[in-house]
Amino acid sequence: MEDRPRRAVQTVLGPVAPEALGPTDAHEHLFLRTPALPGEAFTELEPMVAEASSVRAAGARAVADLTPIGLGRDPRALRLLAERTGLHVIAATGFHRDVHYPDGHWALGEPEDALAELLVADLTEGMDERDWQGPRPRQGPARAGVIKLGASYQTLTSPERRRLAAGARAAVATGAPVAVHCELGTMAHEVLDLLGQHGVPPGRVALAHLDHNPDPGLHAELAERGAFVIYDGAGKVKYHPDSLLIELVGRMAEAGHAGSLLLGGDIARRGNLRAHGGGPGMAHLFAVLVPRLREAFGGELADRLVVANPARLFAFEAAEHPGG
Ligand SMILES: [Zn+2]
Repeated sequence: MEDRPRRAVQTVLGPVAPEALGPTDAHEHLFLRTPALPGEAFTELEPMVAEASSVRAAGARAVADLTPIGLGRDPRALRLLAERTGLHVIAATGFHRDVHYPDGHWALGEPEDALAELLVADLTEGMDERDWQGPRPRQGPARAGVIKLGASYQTLTSPERRRLAAGARAAVATGAPVAVHCELGTMAHEVLDLLGQHGVPPGRVALAHLDHNPDPGLHAELAERGAFVIYDGAGKVKYHPDSLLIELVGRMAEAGHAGSLLLGGDIARRGNLRAHGGGPGMAHLFAVLVPRLREAFGGELADRLVVANPARLFAFEAAEHPGG
């Protein structure tokens, strides 16, 4: 597979040099459907073209779609969306925490080997166009560019451990970056420990939702281990106001950890999308929070968070097992 990009960012339309990625929303969902959020699915292309166009108009040039297998991931629609909006779209493979899979779903019971195999195929050959929901795999041209994994609140269940191990194996085999949903910002150290036991260093891992556990001491510890910390609650004031994110960024920058922070919108509900009449809308991060960060800390720090740091995370590393 010598045409597989090395140290490039892998988007659904092909490899992009890290320095060409541009301002990046590091955690979104462009199409989503999960039994954990009944009534909140969004899987239609046209409204998402409108929503994602507003993200681009607000200044973003790239979006990481951290939607793992089984949650409405749609590789063909992601390519159309990238073509229509001009955004670089980084798609995910991987698995979420247990609550997103109905009883009896194969993701809860398949062995680690089989799970790792699917992830490697999505990353190196092309994502299955029916998202591995059958009846037969149908490989498309879009490759995944990140491995998304998930942990439950205050615990890692045994299927979650198995999926984290499978994800780690796929990361080692391909050089892909890893992003992990930490429910309410818990289990971050444990996730890094488990991935590390399987050969993935913290520097290849981004931990999502840490602003739901807004403890600057914890975030500094994770950064000291080398991990990326994602603040992805912008605009969702039921969790916290944006002022908290500004404070956290300030604390982390003061402690010398600005190089470990990523920002995302993580719009995961139909009711959060402007295109469906809700809010804050996917553009909120770049339209509202990023300008406030520029105002508070200057453009250099803001650019580090949305340009330099995502370019570092999302660039593939040379794989340990070339062609694997
Ligand atoms: Zn998410």
